[in-house]
Amino acid sequence: MVNLNYEYTQHLIGTTVSLMLFEPNETAVQAVFQTIKMLEDKLTVNRSSSEVMSINLAAGHHPVIVSRSVFSLIEQAQKISLYFNSCFNFAIGPLVKLWKIGFNGYQVPSAKLIREKLLLIDPKNIELDANTYSVFLRKPGMEIDLGAIAKGYIADVVKSILHQHQVYKGIINLGGNVLTLGSSLTDGNGYWHIGLRKPFSTNGKLSGIIKVKDKSVVTSGIYERFFIQNYRLYHHLLNPQTGYPLNNELESVTIISDSSLEGDIYSTIFYGWGVDKSRQYLQKHQNLSAIFLLKNKTAILVNPDNFIFQQIDTQYQIKTD
Ligand code: ADP
Ligand code: MG
Repeated sequence: MVNLNYEYTQHLIGTTVSLMLFEPNETAVQAVFQTIKMLEDKLTVNRSSSEVMSINLAAGHHPVIVSRSVFSLIEQAQKISLYFNSCFNFAIGPLVKLWKIGFNGYQVPSAKLIREKLLLIDPKNIELDANTYSVFLRKPGMEIDLGAIAKGYIADVVKSILHQHQVYKGIINLGGNVLTLGSSLTDGNGYWHIGLRKPFSTNGKLSGIIKVKDKSVVTSGIYERFFIQNYRLYHHLLNPQTGYPLNNELESVTIISDSSLEGDIYSTIFYGWGVDKSRQYLQKHQNLSAIFLLKNKTAILVNPDNFIFQQIDTQYQIKTD
């Protein structure tokens, strides 16, 4: 057996980024961390300047020309937002900034302010020009937020950089977006073992282990960033229709897919849809798999051909579709 001995870690994109490899490769690792920094510089909305911030600051005034990669991600984000508008919306920025969930100064905003911000999140009011790579937010106060998909996009880019450096086996972990490369050399059957956190556990307890080969594993959950006020929990996945956190039977949704971007998109959409609607979609998309952890302590596994789930927390009752 070969050990996954080479771990490289940096704090970037607001999270811990780690690469785990079977062989040391400083050149590949340097290229990866440099690229992540470069993409963070372009995409972040948590600093005063970036390409996306330039678009947001020019809202209501003028279009802004961005780099090809940023334009292409924005183009995809708009398509998804127009198609899945009831739960995924990349124009959600004004509401994310109002709630500040997961940041200093978080608060339950007044209903009046929420109503005002709801008028600023229509993705149809974002004009894209594919000839000039320019982006225009029609109303002042509009803001793009790629928080739901940036890590997935970056994880896929990291995978391609590793491939360019002939690294075909390893694990990329961008704070919950886990992308496994090839098959593992530490498991006789080639599976990578990815821990699924027990929701709200503060001491690293797992609800189970997900075993996959050459797949992405992404989880969106209400326990990642939240606050509690007057016995109510407010988490960071917002309902674009009401302006309040999405409220349903779910604690988390995990997506097992080929790309991390897909995982990021569908973890957010399925969280918004809830189990029944997501299941219907998954029946028609067998290449995507999901694990739903419900507040009533049921774990529902859908399309389980693409992974193995090893239960650890016996509190959950497992159901397989
Ligand atoms: P994380 O892995 O960091 O917890 P997620 O992939 O679950 O992030 O996405 C959550 C982030 O997406 C929020 O912090 C916010 O920036 C953004 N967001 C919140 N609600 C929505 C929504 N309905 N549609 C698109 N993006 C959203
Ligand atoms: Mg997501």
